[in-house]
Amino acid sequence: MGSHNYWGVERWRMALILFFALLGGLLTDYWMVSLLLTLIGYIGWLLYKVHQLDKWLENGAKALYLPDSNGIWERLIHQIQQMQKKSLARKTRMSKLLKRFQGVVTGLPYATIVLNRHNEIDWANKAANEYLSIDLKKDRGQRIDNLIRMPEVLKILRKNTCKEIEIALPQYGERQIAVQLIPVQEDLKLFIARDVSERNYIQQMRKNFIANASHELRTPLTVITGYLEIVRDDENLTESLQPAIQSAAEQAARMQSIIEDLLTLSRLENSVLNEDAEQVINMHEILHAICEEQTTFIVDNSHTLITHSDPTLKIMGAEAEVISVCSNLIHNAIRHTQKGTIITIEWQKNRLGEACLKISDNGQGIPAAQLPHLTERFYRVDKGRSRDKGGTGLGLAIVQHIIKRHGGYLDIQSTLGKGSCFMVCLPVERVVEND
Ligand code: ADP
Repeated sequence: MGSHNYWGVERWRMALILFFALLGGLLTDYWMVSLLLTLIGYIGWLLYKVHQLDKWLENGAKALYLPDSNGIWERLIHQIQQMQKKSLARKTRMSKLLKRFQGVVTGLPYATIVLNRHNEIDWANKAANEYLSIDLKKDRGQRIDNLIRMPEVLKILRKNTCKEIEIALPQYGERQIAVQLIPVQEDLKLFIARDVSERNYIQQMRKNFIANASHELRTPLTVITGYLEIVRDDENLTESLQPAIQSAAEQAARMQSIIEDLLTLSRLENSVLNEDAEQVINMHEILHAICEEQTTFIVDNSHTLITHSDPTLKIMGAEAEVISVCSNLIHNAIRHTQKGTIITIEWQKNRLGEACLKISDNGQGIPAAQLPHLTERFYRVDKGRSRDKGGTGLGLAIVQHIIKRHGGYLDIQSTLGKGSCFMVCLPVERVVEND
């Protein structure tokens, strides 16, 4: 029924009631009583209608059991039905959306677990069962750290960080799982896990390949270098051949140093720092020895080395590796800067108590965009010049590896035209306190 004539029906109804009240009054002469009785009858009828409506709503407001009504009541019922239809449509839309979303998350190849603020499981997809043995039916409401009892997992849960960590679950043998915690809201976190066994296997294959290839090349190259030296030193060598042999010997020596550096990198990558091999390192002495050695290579006083080192600051570490860090950085500062450069070598504790080696030069500097790439293998700022100077492009990669396995960090700052500063810092725990 349209909204326009429901008041018409109501007007007729009121007119009918008034007519009955008047009729009662006319017939009995008790006007007030007649009016009162008609009004009571009307109120009773109204209450009956409200009761009918209430019952209908209580039973789910089904279209099949529509209360028989007209006028304002029909209008009311119509409005309720419209609202119901709208909310049903909205509900269907929402549940469709939710189903689609759940379908997407369920189908994700990553194990996805929704956690609340207490790290209790709210929801998990199928992959969570496969990777982490989490069964939603059984484990909903359980704390995740009770199900995955690993110190690394505990750490990321406690710190609430997004950092990805790798774990090996005992029940899966060799399988490597990378897990990550993503805080979404204060009381909602996503715990994501994925299988990285294959990625790690490929990485390991790559490392092994480089190690094996370098190893295989080392012996033949030693033989070639040996023969080249013999030929070079031979008095019968014709003069016209001398430059060619000299150049071949230099290139072979360069290849040898690349292979040695690659082998060093492989060894660093494939092993952890052996605590038994660590010793107290007197950096002050080492730095002085390296500076003395390097000074012999500096021709025509082209570079000046200035050292400020704390003789009492000693550290624990693998000595050969730490020496390699120092000489790589000092050698770079000499090799990659122009004549007249002053190089300052500082060995001191910083404000945090870390032991820091800072090698700064006032050379030509390095463009800012290239700084993040310096520790990549074979990355050179100026390819041609670096090769001419006998660089392998592996020095800073080696430095980075050594410092990382000693628990420290490498920081590189540089301004074009002003110079560069390479700083390595080792953690407080490595500092040897003097008695
Ligand atoms: P390389 O064997 O070529 O020295 P490194 O890994 O040690 O390889 O260094 C990478 C590149 O970083 C170098 O090729 C050089 O271009 C640049 N570099 C390193 N140290 C300095 C420095 N002190 N000043 C300017 N450039 C530098």
